[in-house]
Amino acid sequence: MARSRSVGAEIVSSYTGAPRLAVPGSHSALQLLRGARDEGVEAVLVATRRQYEAIYSRFEWLYSRAVLLESWSDFTEKRTLEKLRELNAVLVPHASLIEYVGADKLVGLELPILGNRYLLEIEASWDRKITLLASAGIETPRIYRSPGEATTPVIVKLPGAKGGRGYRAATPETLPRVLEELRQLGYSPEEVTVQELLIGVRLYVHYFASRVMDRVELISMDHRLESNIDGLSRLPPMLAAQLNLEPTFTVVANQPIVARESLLAKILDYGDRFAAAVEKETGHPMIGPFSLEGVVTDKLEYKVFEFSGRIVAGTNVYMGQPAPYGSLYWETPMYMGRRIARELRLAWERGLLEKIVT
Ligand code: AMP
Repeated sequence: MARSRSVGAEIVSSYTGAPRLAVPGSHSALQLLRGARDEGVEAVLVATRRQYEAIYSRFEWLYSRAVLLESWSDFTEKRTLEKLRELNAVLVPHASLIEYVGADKLVGLELPILGNRYLLEIEASWDRKITLLASAGIETPRIYRSPGEATTPVIVKLPGAKGGRGYRAATPETLPRVLEELRQLGYSPEEVTVQELLIGVRLYVHYFASRVMDRVELISMDHRLESNIDGLSRLPPMLAAQLNLEPTFTVVANQPIVARESLLAKILDYGDRFAAAVEKETGHPMIGPFSLEGVVTDKLEYKVFEFSGRIVAGTNVYMGQPAPYGSLYWETPMYMGRRIARELRLAWERGLLEKIVT
């Protein structure tokens, strides 16, 4: 695919002063604001008045400007975007922003985005997501196109990034019933995705594709605590059997984790492969944070069931702390929020701003 100049590159080329990091409220906002402060980059908080009053007004030293909205629907208004462009804003997208504004609107947003905005469209579709991972040569779980195909336990996923909410686990025998129950809730069989349920250790790996350093950096890893599946494992087996509860996967919290070092060969290779596949598919390079989320099996295969083409909330566990891998590249302690601000600062200092936005 031929590369065209992105909206973001056009806009930053007209910025005269230093860029400011525009941080949307919620998700990883505090980490991003802290990262900007650690790098001496000015930050602009963009939040609703409610978010501001409940949370961000208590951390005012972390940002120099705030653009407050009555509701997130005001974000795409001409006057909001004009104000942000006047402030030389470069936006960091995250899952909450995508949920508030919608991927389709963000793809056309008249504001520079630190990241590959074209990936947002792919992220909105399970099919395109798994196809991208497979085209990168990354191992993925099996996808069952019809209930009759399923030969293993499965996880049934709903459309959109729901933090696991409403996902169901099933066996080949119970799958038709589960699909019928979801249909009654308004989800057609075409909308849901049925994946092989992977058993093993979950590793959610955080990477940073640097255009300034021309490399994909490994920053950190986390895994999640999910309700009720993590609670079920704490029940005595007899009680669990009596209760006969179906596992659910609502993401509640994150924990830091590191992998056995020999696994890094695969993990590092997957990061490079993913970035290359994104460039091939979208015609624009991978830029900034991304994450691969998967399970390492007892055969030490790393099967990736999901990716995020932007910062993930699991990086918050290292906010203000030296992340184990990310800090290896620098003299200073490094974590994702700070790494993003460093890229912005270095790109500005070296005249490379157009390279780190779309
Ligand atoms: P996701 O929305 O895809 O990130 O999934 C939410 C949670 O569901 C994950 O954190 C996992 O615990 C679980 N999960 C998703 N896909 C799979 C899978 N193929 N096998 C096992 N667990 C999964």
